[in-house]
Amino acid sequence: MSVSLRVRLFAGHVLVVAAALTLMTVLAVRQQFGWVVGRTDEALERAARHMATELPPQDDWEAAAARMGATLGYRVTFIDRTGRVLGDTEVPPGRLSEVENHAARPEVSQALAGRTGRALRHSRTTGVDLVYVAVPAPPGRGVAVVRLSEPLVMIRALDNALLRISLAAAALALLLSVPLVLWVAGREAARIRELEAVARRLGSGDPTARAREQPADELGQLGRAVNRMAGESRSRLEALGRERDERERILAHLRDGVALVDGAGRVIRMNRSCADLLGVALPAEAGVPFAEFVRSAELDALLKSARGEDRAREADVRLWTPGQWLLHAMAAPLPGAGEGAVLLVLHDLTEAERLNQVRQDFVANVSHELRTPLTSLRGYAETLLEGGLEDPENRERFVRVIRDQAVRLEAIAEDLLTLAGLERPEARLDLQRFDLREAAARQVAALRPRAAAAGLDLALEPGPELRVNADRRLVEQLLANLLDNAVKFTERGRVRVRIGESATRVWCEVEDTGCGIPEADQPRVFERFYRVDKARSRERGGTGLGLSIVKHIATLHGGEVSLRSRATEGSTFRVEIPREPAGGAGPNARSHRAAG
Ligand code: ADP
Repeated sequence: MSVSLRVRLFAGHVLVVAAALTLMTVLAVRQQFGWVVGRTDEALERAARHMATELPPQDDWEAAAARMGATLGYRVTFIDRTGRVLGDTEVPPGRLSEVENHAARPEVSQALAGRTGRALRHSRTTGVDLVYVAVPAPPGRGVAVVRLSEPLVMIRALDNALLRISLAAAALALLLSVPLVLWVAGREAARIRELEAVARRLGSGDPTARAREQPADELGQLGRAVNRMAGESRSRLEALGRERDERERILAHLRDGVALVDGAGRVIRMNRSCADLLGVALPAEAGVPFAEFVRSAELDALLKSARGEDRAREADVRLWTPGQWLLHAMAAPLPGAGEGAVLLVLHDLTEAERLNQVRQDFVANVSHELRTPLTSLRGYAETLLEGGLEDPENRERFVRVIRDQAVRLEAIAEDLLTLAGLERPEARLDLQRFDLREAAARQVAALRPRAAAAGLDLALEPGPELRVNADRRLVEQLLANLLDNAVKFTERGRVRVRIGESATRVWCEVEDTGCGIPEADQPRVFERFYRVDKARSRERGGTGLGLSIVKHIATLHGGEVSLRSRATEGSTFRVEIPREPAGGAGPNARSHRAAG
């Protein structure tokens, strides 16, 4: 179990305080001891000097030493010039002769030399540690050196008493410092814990966590550094978040499907288009196995082949979804996203393939449409060249046929050019405000002779003026095509043109009592070159492009064309366009393609 920071701080502080107090005490004790010894020295010297100057000549130095020693409370020693001890407080009477010569004692030799002698040593005479002070005595007194000494044990006793006081003071100081140290340690530990909590909150993603910066000591500075770091990492995180959102938006709006698959074949990310292209309602959640999400052996094989490779693999993949989509799939290894991770990009080729097919069909249809009149032209021309010119009966008929075929070729070319013009991406409507009823009346009037010749009753139902903002030339062509068809495919009866309006739209209906269109053919009559009865259409100069042009014109105006018809009973074509073109003029490329 780790020791808490508070305990460690406390123990550290206590150790420091204890060490400081111990050092102080040791120094104080040494100082005290030196001071006590110094004071004793001084007292001994003063007493010795006083004694030496005041000393009367004596006969019995032993008795004098005993007496003075008793008075002063010191050991008194009288020594002569040779170092012989004349009297000593501690030497019992009669034993003086056993005391060895003191001339060699350091304090005595110094005093014999005329100086104050000092020493601190073990006395061989008394067997205890003593402090000695010896001073020279004035001459003529019978004694040369007066020495006073005091047992060190006395000094030590004093010193020990002082030591005890010092130790008691140190212990008291230590005791008093404990709560203070405890408080300081607790406070510091609490501040560090607070910083740790802030760091933990920041680490767990709480950007609002802030450390205290006061007081401005090291911990305060650390708090400020943590706050600065938090601020910087917050703005960095925000920038990263913005980048990620941008990436997400780009990915979400990408028309290509993008999926990131890990080394184990599980989806890491997938955009909406990817799910759409794979025919699945929602993008796969992270962790879902890709092979389960979309059951395509080809895609699976492509992903596997790209895994661990250093270059992208590509393939065209047909998915057997309801739309039978054709996709261009590219699988590129993406080691940065994890071991064996692969980025899969799907591009929809279905529309491109369809357009390609449409183009091919169109070329085939045009070639087919041109071949018949061209073959006919060549046949009649050759017949004329091979003697037909000499045949007055038939040559005029041959030339008429040649002219009719040329007219048909011209009509096909004209309709093709019209269609090409309508399909140009940059095609723009030449908008102008005009009366739709008046435009329809003109077309009806233009066709009336032909209708009358065929015994048809062609009429525009009366009504008020109906103003529209549209491309007049194209709308007139649309009406002409519908009227032309109505007259063309009606044997007898009538053709009626009706015009009307709703809140935002105008409409025009062309109703006939002709041959009608079987239900199965109705959805296809707006396709290029589609005819219900080919022979009849050709015979009447039809190109198979008229209704396709009608649908294009309606779509370009933001409107639509519909058909109600029953075989043998007649047909009604209805065109609806907005009164005002939405968002100004101009078609978009999509409306062109949508048309048949
Ligand atoms: P066409 O040049 O042959 O008229 P369209 O594109 O105008 O070509 O029409 C396509 C086909 O739709 C026609 O061939 C015809 O079979 C049918 N159709 C068009 N209008 C009518 C109509 N009013 N009555 C019957 N059939 C029609």
